[in-house]
Amino acid sequence: MKIEIASHSGFCFGVKRAIKIVEDSLKNEQNIYCLGPIIHNPQVVKGLMDRGLKIVKDISIIKKGALVISAHGLEPKLIKKAAEKGLKIIDATCPLVKKAQKYAEQLKNDKYHIIIIGDKNHAETKGIVGFCGTNFQVIGNKSEIDIKKLQNDKKIGIVSQTTQGIWNLREISTIALPYSDELRIYNTICETTLKKQTAARQLAKRSDVMIVIGGYNSANTKRLVEVSKETGVKTYHIEMVRDINLAWLKGKEKIGISAGASTSPESIKNVVSKIRDTHG
Ligand code: SF4
Repeated sequence: MKIEIASHSGFCFGVKRAIKIVEDSLKNEQNIYCLGPIIHNPQVVKGLMDRGLKIVKDISIIKKGALVISAHGLEPKLIKKAAEKGLKIIDATCPLVKKAQKYAEQLKNDKYHIIIIGDKNHAETKGIVGFCGTNFQVIGNKSEIDIKKLQNDKKIGIVSQTTQGIWNLREISTIALPYSDELRIYNTICETTLKKQTAARQLAKRSDVMIVIGGYNSANTKRLVEVSKETGVKTYHIEMVRDINLAWLKGKEKIGISAGASTSPESIKNVVSKIRDTHG
């Protein structure tokens, strides 16, 4: 049996940076809060919580201390609310997410109808939406485009959640083009994400089965699963080593492994060891 790990698997620089910011802050601050998980990796988040990080759902719960903004960013109105409460703001937003937010704000100021390509319920998308004003639509794919809204505006701008697939951006831009006098497209898909997707696709094509490791709520991991499945190879999404069902690998010779941006090197190593220990 051959086990191959896709290149660019695991932690990206934005996630490493966010973890480091929180670790450093925990050395000096007692009350550090985050709205939801700082990254989509339950084990890493638990490790940080053991060292004092508190995860809350609402700012109103926080009485004093600091609010850390996750790698996914946060809506400006919530940052304002936290600052008004006197909370210290520790910003761990990935610089590439910040770039998407900045472009969204620019499009709003220049009075474009904004198409945000992303998952409506994801923290990063909600953060970007917070910079868009009122003239926007959030869509996951081309079937969700509200054409009526495009017909009202001749200036259309597009930004994307950083973890989207480039083909999605291409398809949606092509549909929007005939409705616009001016179409401004910002490619805000992160390069690491693109490299991960390309590597996962290539590996899936030469594997008998693919295991994708990453948080079940991690957008970039879900995208890797989609990319792998598109090649036709049987693909399983697991969060950690305990989720593997070794029956999936029975009779398979070439096992491919890919991992999302929030997956630690230890998680990948544990999965590889379990497969090796069982299948030799
Ligand atoms: S996947 Fe890209 S955009 Fe997201 S945190 Fe990592 S480097 Fe930043």
